[in-house]
Amino acid sequence: MQAYTDSADVVHFIGGNAERGTGDRTQAVYNPATGAVARRLVLGEAADVDAAVAAAKAAFPAWRDTPPIRRARVMLRFLELMNRHKDELAAIITAEHGKVFADAQGEVARGIDVIEFACGIPQLLKGDYTEQVSTGMDNWTVRQPLGVVAGITPFNFPCMVPCWMFPVALAAGCTFVLKPSERDPSAALFMARLLKEAGLPDGVFNVVQGDKTVVDALLAHRDVKAVSFVGSTPIANYIYETGAKHGKRVQALGGAKNHMVVMPDADLDQAVDALIGAGYGSAGERCMAISVAVLVGDVADKIVPRLAERAKNLIVKNGMEADAEMGPIVTRQALERIEGYIANGVEEGATLVVDGRGLKVPGHEEGFFTGGTLFDNVTPDMRIYREEIFGPVLACVRVKDFSEAVQLINDHEFGNGVACFTRDGNVAREFGRQIEVGMVGINVPIPVPMAWHGFGGWKRSLFGDMHAYGEEGVRFYTKQKSIMQRWPESTEKGAEFTMPVAK
Ligand code: NAD
Repeated sequence: MQAYTDSADVVHFIGGNAERGTGDRTQAVYNPATGAVARRLVLGEAADVDAAVAAAKAAFPAWRDTPPIRRARVMLRFLELMNRHKDELAAIITAEHGKVFADAQGEVARGIDVIEFACGIPQLLKGDYTEQVSTGMDNWTVRQPLGVVAGITPFNFPCMVPCWMFPVALAAGCTFVLKPSERDPSAALFMARLLKEAGLPDGVFNVVQGDKTVVDALLAHRDVKAVSFVGSTPIANYIYETGAKHGKRVQALGGAKNHMVVMPDADLDQAVDALIGAGYGSAGERCMAISVAVLVGDVADKIVPRLAERAKNLIVKNGMEADAEMGPIVTRQALERIEGYIANGVEEGATLVVDGRGLKVPGHEEGFFTGGTLFDNVTPDMRIYREEIFGPVLACVRVKDFSEAVQLINDHEFGNGVACFTRDGNVAREFGRQIEVGMVGINVPIPVPMAWHGFGGWKRSLFGDMHAYGEEGVRFYTKQKSIMQRWPESTEKGAEFTMPVAK
């Protein structure tokens, strides 16, 4: 597989065309494996948001009126193109994000799942109907698209997370403005081109590249009816409050600190594999990464040495190399933040079992690499426990029993994903019932729900009340309308001055 080598500037996509827009600010986009600037990103201004929203608004009436099955057919053609180009897209992701190519392929596959789901939109938009709610009168419910909606997405899944949003929104009849992460913006542009090739009318899907300037313009724009956001908790909180202040429907998915409980009866081989894969896969830059191992009873003494052995021997290199298990961190700044947390963990008294700091990958000395880090004896008061590190750092917390494990997790401010490894059916059942987390895995370390189930955390991992994609996604992008109807021939005439009741 060839690495992505296009060095052209990354631009906006407005009204069906690639556009440089009005601003003159640009920002470097790096290849994190080499540390080199790969291309430059054109940063949008408020005027570019105005142009994109105007294009989306103009395209809305015709797209809304296109029968759902014809919208689904456009999605089917897009699905076909995504499948045809999936490796190219995965290579674009690896070149800007750094994750290993096989993992990028997995990301694209999970994005494609949602496109497949969106192809079922005629069935998903079916309403309810009650005949004869009163004599000669029927009542039915339809769901109609909101209009222009916006998506603001993080760096860690530049294909999959936008796919949580726009396929469902477009299939439902909305038009869309996407603001991708400025760190790996090319995947969005690539998908915009495929949508056009699939026959999506111009203006239905737009991309405005940029930073806070673009986000703020979208949040304040009167023609944007809803905002879907995925990113860190402070920004999710800001998006939720600001969007709501401007009268928009908002779903804002935030950060995470995902725990994995290992009970003494668990299959420890499986648990070790799960912790290594879910802790260090994608260099821990996943909102569903496991960053805390909750080791119950005597489990810690049995598995910490095994985790250490595996963490020390992770194959960390350029993600385009076939045997890489972990690639670089997305930016130098993020690398410094992660290594800063490791120093803090040491200061706060956690046991540093494996130190990944300062890793140099031969031939990639300027790349943003760090190795896998493992801490033991982490306690709930430490910053490395409380805060999201978003890097390859696994913290082991020792607890005495199941109830202490559940209490620990329920006391944490985040509630995105969680897992419990056990062979005991009752423990599994009680865990699922008692845990205050949105997505739960029993012997499944990264329980990312399938496209038709919907994705969302609890507590400060999600602001808003609807999860991404699945039927909640369809509800998010549509509003309900109830229609009551009767025909003049079927009813008595005359003014009614009392509350209408069934007759
Ligand atoms: P981020 O919050 O820095 O950025 C997300 C988006 O917000 C980007 O498009 C960015 O341009 C924009 N943004 C950043 N600062 C802003 C500001 N001050 N005002 C307005 N907009 C701003 O997140 P990130 O570093 O790109 O992604 C990593 C974070 O995303 C982690 O916290 C991770 O847990 C979270 N995440 C959560 C989920 C989930 O489903 N809950 C999924 C993926 C990632």
